[in-house]
Amino acid sequence: MIKIETIFANNSLSNYYYLINNEDNEFFVIDPFESEVVTQKIKKMNGTLKSIFLTHGHHDHIRGALELKNLFNSKILGHNILNTKIKIDQFVKEDDQILLTNERNANGHNSFLTVIETPGHTKDHVCYMLNENNKDQLLFTGDTIFQAGVGNCHNGGDPKVLYNTILKLKNILTNDIKIYSGHDYIENNLLFAKSIDAENYEIDKTLKLIRSDQFINIDYKTTYELEKRINVFFKAKNMEEFLKYRELRNSW
Ligand SMILES: [Zn+2]
Repeated sequence: MIKIETIFANNSLSNYYYLINNEDNEFFVIDPFESEVVTQKIKKMNGTLKSIFLTHGHHDHIRGALELKNLFNSKILGHNILNTKIKIDQFVKEDDQILLTNERNANGHNSFLTVIETPGHTKDHVCYMLNENNKDQLLFTGDTIFQAGVGNCHNGGDPKVLYNTILKLKNILTNDIKIYSGHDYIENNLLFAKSIDAENYEIDKTLKLIRSDQFINIDYKTTYELEKRINVFFKAKNMEEFLKYRELRNSW
């Protein structure tokens, strides 16, 4: 069984990044921010870091990558147009599958990540879908989808392209797929959603949940089923409406 640890970065951007452990103490990391934190966790387990997956080239998603690569002699994977000075060891493209396990499990299945090209936040953006037990389980969405929101298009992005990416994801995602996003913007996103979709009971319910005393952000992942109900960018009826929401959210 693949284990995934969510790490909350100690920065003002509220980055999340993800450490994956296959059954053999081989690790994989998505968008590492703090190399020291990742190193400590892997060393504690006497593990190795096989690969570093990048969703896109923005600094807050690649910051720890080079140091980790050098330390563990691991491979950096990213889109072939990834706009960064870091050398990519393995270019990825739509539908590529990267194995996380060495052997099939008792049910005869390997675990792997499938690459989905998701331009919009940047041109080079990809998401990674985790498939385990022959089923897509969760999506590492980087800055394409956030819980109750989507990424901005300020630094190399295009909201029209992002709209088409969201349409594409609507066709790929199934209800129980969990969203593992690149930042914790959920509260602000829900407040924005409420300003658009004031009568939506699900938004109020989710806001109440995340503001409760027992709530732990790092453990909470929305599902596509919930996103369809609370994420105004998924609910937008057409491109015009999507672009209007993206514009309003920019100054929210
Ligand atoms: Zn970004």
